[in-house]
Amino acid sequence: MAIVYRIRAHHGMCFSFFRGKGYSGEFTDNMWKMKENLAHNPDVILLKEADDVCAHCPNNQKGTCISMEKVADYDRQVLDLCGLEPGVRMRWKDFEKTVQDKILKPGRREEICKDCEWSELCVL
Ligand code: SF4
Repeated sequence: MAIVYRIRAHHGMCFSFFRGKGYSGEFTDNMWKMKENLAHNPDVILLKEADDVCAHCPNNQKGTCISMEKVADYDRQVLDLCGLEPGVRMRWKDFEKTVQDKILKPGRREEICKDCEWSELCVL
């Protein structure tokens, strides 16, 4: 049976910019693996809670991000700008394109996550 990835909405932006930097070796290994698998365009379920990226992050404390309020706000903004609801299931490339068209190409990323510690790495 095909894997359906759980993706918190703001990670739709993170995958566009990920080049190997991250919170730990386990985190970056998982990001590379997921990036490779997402390239095959699986179904994903969009979330505003911990996902398959958070599962390998040292900031994930028993299923909750230590920056919970901040990242939940990123998720909410991404979903709003993309016109999507949490829990929706769709193909990864459709979500990726929506994030590109609604947020990244119009230059709206910094409105959402300028205060993220990785923000300066996220340039197209
Ligand atoms: S920092 Fe928080 S939202 Fe980001 S991957 Fe880690 S646990 Fe998830």
